[in-house]
Amino acid sequence: MKTDPDKKSFGVSSEPGVYLMRDACGKIIYVGKAGNLKKRIGSYFSRQAQLDIKTRALVNKISTFETIITRTEKEALILESNLIKRHKPRYNVILKDDKRYPSLRLDINSPYPNLTIVRDIKKNGSIYFGPFASSNAVRETLKIINKTFKLRKCKTKEFKKRSRPCLNFQIKACFAPCCFDVDKSAYHEIVKEVAMFLNGRTSDLICKIKNEMISAAKAQSFEQAAVLRDKLFAIEKTLEKQVVVTTDFKDRDVLAVAGSPEHYLITLMFIRKGRLLGIRHYSFSETMSDNAEMIGAFITQYYEKTPFIPNEILVPIHLIDAPLLEDWLYILKGEKVNILHPKRGEKARLLNMAIKNAEDRLKDQTASDVSDMDLLSRLCKRLKMERVPLRIECFDNSNISGTEPVAGMVVFEKGKPKRSSYRKYRIKTVPKQDDYAYMAEVLKRRYGKGAKSNPYPDMLMVDGGKGQMNIAVSVIKDLKLDSYFEVIGIAKKDEKSGEKEDKIYKPGRVNPINFGREGDLLLFLQRIRDEAHRFAITFHRKRRGKASLYSALDAIPSVGKKRKAILLKHFKSIKKIRAATIEELSALPGISHAVARSVKSALK
Ligand code: SF4
Repeated sequence: MKTDPDKKSFGVSSEPGVYLMRDACGKIIYVGKAGNLKKRIGSYFSRQAQLDIKTRALVNKISTFETIITRTEKEALILESNLIKRHKPRYNVILKDDKRYPSLRLDINSPYPNLTIVRDIKKNGSIYFGPFASSNAVRETLKIINKTFKLRKCKTKEFKKRSRPCLNFQIKACFAPCCFDVDKSAYHEIVKEVAMFLNGRTSDLICKIKNEMISAAKAQSFEQAAVLRDKLFAIEKTLEKQVVVTTDFKDRDVLAVAGSPEHYLITLMFIRKGRLLGIRHYSFSETMSDNAEMIGAFITQYYEKTPFIPNEILVPIHLIDAPLLEDWLYILKGEKVNILHPKRGEKARLLNMAIKNAEDRLKDQTASDVSDMDLLSRLCKRLKMERVPLRIECFDNSNISGTEPVAGMVVFEKGKPKRSSYRKYRIKTVPKQDDYAYMAEVLKRRYGKGAKSNPYPDMLMVDGGKGQMNIAVSVIKDLKLDSYFEVIGIAKKDEKSGEKEDKIYKPGRVNPINFGREGDLLLFLQRIRDEAHRFAITFHRKRRGKASLYSALDAIPSVGKKRKAILLKHFKSIKKIRAATIEELSALPGISHAVARSVKSALK
């Protein structure tokens, strides 16, 4: 049902359901759910004076809203989550980091399992441990395990191909099951120990190793006893580094929220078997959700992707939706999950610890934002710009003698790189090497699409000095966008003529801008230029690498158009052709053993 918020008599149902708020352009800007739609929507419009200034400003952006009635609140929760995923509304809390957190996979289907770092959890019988708070944390754990336990370290592909053991065998870090007939049950005993270690059953593990050590000593196998002693020391040393935060040794996650007018932050503390394994912070800006809705949205989005859900989640606020969320988590985990808001005792202490961490992090973040804004305001003044360059776009070309010419655009928003907005361009219309023409083509493609080119930057920066800058100015003028944003050029210093620093040019000025004592402004612009350069050159290398591989295929005398097409149709990419074995290649129609051999050697 669609309604205009200006009409005070909403006629909205009091049943549970989902509401979708739209802006003046009809875009969905917020999706929410409610047990009583009428009450919830009324709270936005009829009691505006009770809302804080920021929420009031956001509510004023709502042009229309619609509601979808559901049979139960649980249905509303699922529908809300699906609609948020589909529409990604601007003022909802959305977990942007969808690179799932790293976990460790123990492939127990293999005769000699190994541990690998993965981000995807597949239901293929492997055992997963994690998620870890960061890539560093997972790498550190893997390093400790590799040092302490003699699991194989190589990837399965390499393991199958080895004809000789690698260095790990020489340094006694692996039994080399790749080449020797290692006793499978002894190897699986190690696998069990690794699983105990990763599951936090360290006291059981320590007890097991101690008993083995005593037995080895009794049997006068002193060398074996010494190995076990070293293993014990290594495990105990690792445990010393981990902080024990609870005495009940349970798994639990602790959530906290901190907010400022510009930012919100949700902090997640992972506690496994009573030990604090890590802390992650998630920031959000501009949201219409209150703290309880933010925590609810976080729980639904985060636990849907994570491989491990603890039996207890501590939250900093009483959640009316807690029973609904618990039901939903039960479906995901297959076990009861309690969402608790503790007020006293050990759990409340943990919660305070998470809140303190969230507040400290928010303070740091706010301080860094203030200094970025200060820098941008000074840059605006120094460059005599009309408005602060909150969004800066910088372009750079990359090619070698005109081969595979490409360009890259990087975006800095509020002084920070916004990688999701970076763009790569393959030059399409310039037949011979011409750096100015490359720049003109790319700028027309970026800004010449009318409304689709939005958002425009406040400042456009081109690498290459006055020449490139003048091209940018003329393209922008032709597109009638010269009143929209400023253009500057950055040129490398000419060391031969004794220049000491890179030069920043502005249209209409003969000499570069002198930054005087504000060297940090020039450094900031250089950082953006370097990022554009890195981005463009990486793309160019990738293109060149691909092109040279394709031409390597062309250079094989026995591979004509037909065979090339057969190979590409089957393997889809040169990378896969290169990885294929001679047998796989020669299994294709028209590819003999001899042709397969020449393909292999040409693509080596
Ligand atoms: S010795 Fe063999 S099994 Fe062990 S890590 Fe090296 S290649 Fe892998």
